[in-house]
Amino acid sequence: TPDDDFLVVEDLHAGYGGARVLHGVSLTVGRGEVCAILGPNGAGKTTLLRALCGMVKGRGAVRLGGTGLLGRPPDAVARLGVAHVPEGRGTFLPLTVEENLRLGAFTRRDRAAVQADLERVHGYFPVLRKRLKQQAGSLSGGEQQMLALGRALMLRPRLLLLDEPSLGLAPMVTRELFGIVRSINEEERTTVVVVEQNAHLALGIARQAHVLETGRIVLSGPAERIRADEQVARSYLGYR
Ligand code: ATP
Repeated sequence: TPDDDFLVVEDLHAGYGGARVLHGVSLTVGRGEVCAILGPNGAGKTTLLRALCGMVKGRGAVRLGGTGLLGRPPDAVARLGVAHVPEGRGTFLPLTVEENLRLGAFTRRDRAAVQADLERVHGYFPVLRKRLKQQAGSLSGGEQQMLALGRALMLRPRLLLLDEPSLGLAPMVTRELFGIVRSINEEERTTVVVVEQNAHLALGIARQAHVLETGRIVLSGPAERIRADEQVARSYLGYR
């Protein structure tokens, strides 16, 4: 059904100039689902998200709700409802929290709806409301990651791409952040693709998961099954 095939990636090849990183990645994500991408450093997880949002060129096919995304520049992909929260957050540090959030709504004209969405974001991240006039650079790491996610929500995304949201954050902050991602997914039915080194966390909110190694998917399945896979457990879950 169209809902099962909301995001379709087919035989995707991508890289940087001569450096080929993805060698034929295929996967589908159902509408409203959370999909986790696991794998070791350098496997190509970040490159996959960049290819999905137009930041690196790719060959093959990427379709969102039936619309082809490959070959479109990042702003055009954003206009089609794809919000990317890059590794390292990508907030504009000299700007205030509020300015960062409003930038997230750059594709939108309806000021009343944008204002309503600011309120909605404050609902998810009450800490940001208190810091609206502060420079983003003055926030803690966890608050910056929340700001990055809040900014992505201001796009009203149909697809949210999260790259290593837990990077550099304390475990408690990370758990809180993943709880919020889960609420966003449940309340807004936003489809999420999350790349994460912390496989426990990612598998905790994902329905399907894929393991990427040297640019190829080597294992795919329901999150519970991936969690139960001994090889995955040894490699990514810290069991021996
Ligand atoms: P990590 O968790 O370490 O970020 P990853 O699975 O996200 O790993 P990528 O960041 O996608 O992996 O990197 C895959 C490969 O692409 C690596 O060999 C990396 O050196 C290379 N690479 C990444 N970015 C660039 C770039 N801008 N130019 C050239 N090569 C790059």
